[in-house]
Amino acid sequence: MIRLKYVALTTALLIAALTATLAEPPRHDFPPVGCWQVLCGDFHMHTINSDGKLTTRERVEESYNLGYDVIAITDHGKPGSYRVAKYVAEPLGLLVLPGFETGVLGKEHYVALGVPATFKPRDPHKLSEKPGDKTVYYRDEMLAIAEAGGILFQAHPPNEWRDPTDWGVREGIIVGVEIQNGYGKVEEGSGPLGGVHCYPHSFDWALKHNLALFANTDIHPARKQGQQPVTLVFVAERTPAGVMDAIRARRTVAWFNNVVCGREELLTKLVEACVLVKPSGSTQLAFENRSPIAFRVALAGSTVEVPPYGNAVCEWTGGNSATLKWLNVWTSPTSNLETEIKIGELAAAATSK
Ligand SMILES: [Zn+2]
Ligand SMILES: [Zn+2]
Repeated sequence: MIRLKYVALTTALLIAALTATLAEPPRHDFPPVGCWQVLCGDFHMHTINSDGKLTTRERVEESYNLGYDVIAITDHGKPGSYRVAKYVAEPLGLLVLPGFETGVLGKEHYVALGVPATFKPRDPHKLSEKPGDKTVYYRDEMLAIAEAGGILFQAHPPNEWRDPTDWGVREGIIVGVEIQNGYGKVEEGSGPLGGVHCYPHSFDWALKHNLALFANTDIHPARKQGQQPVTLVFVAERTPAGVMDAIRARRTVAWFNNVVCGREELLTKLVEACVLVKPSGSTQLAFENRSPIAFRVALAGSTVEVPPYGNAVCEWTGGNSATLKWLNVWTSPTSNLETEIKIGELAAAATSK
């Protein structure tokens, strides 16, 4: 029996070694935004250590292959994947934060980030709403997570803003909320965020309660190919501590289904760093995109598609300044980012070179 188990185990390990493959990740670098580096993150995913289908190694390698810079593996009530994840990820230059998922009995789910892998979650997904119940009171568990150095964000938020979230936010333990969870469908041109299926109401919560915005896969089977949900993190240093600092400071932007969601101030800095606009001759404007995001910009009645790391031009006879409306960049579920450019100053700068 023991021998059979051994054979089964070595066969499983051999299959894992053979199927573990690394690919060249898609280009996903950003220009510096002020003093920050922009990293692509996914902070919610599962492995066979809870109800996911991939091993920790497979999950890490898949994340690397798809172009993430930082991840957290967040199995239900189990932070233990972290050690293997870190071991596999470090040589790849991929950052890993320790994490796990928990929540209130039958209600909200929360993802914990930054607690040590040795942390022992109590009654995951069964937290009680009042003290003295059979399972641990949510406030006691949230406080334990905070004392261990962790933070929480709300996963796939329900429509209701209830006491556990309200209390966690007021205590500064819950610092973020998912705007997207998984791969949303898009119904072109209708509804908030241009018809992308996600959690627009949690975007409102994030603005109202000063929460970090997240777009995560919450993936259980293998990820899909193509564009992934990404939490952009604006870090002062490319380390796990730098990522935690950025999340605590709410320096995140949610990028998914070709839309970008965030606070106006950070989005303004992001698009101004990513897309350079210059006069081209006397009747055109030229756009140069230095980021992996495809932007759609409206100005003076025309729409310009600016591809990732690509260029675009548009006709321009509209005078000395222009208002750019960024049609896939959202400062609330119903409003687009607008920025101003001064054509005269740009033209003078271009001719003085
Ligand atoms: Zn969940
Ligand atoms: Zn989950």
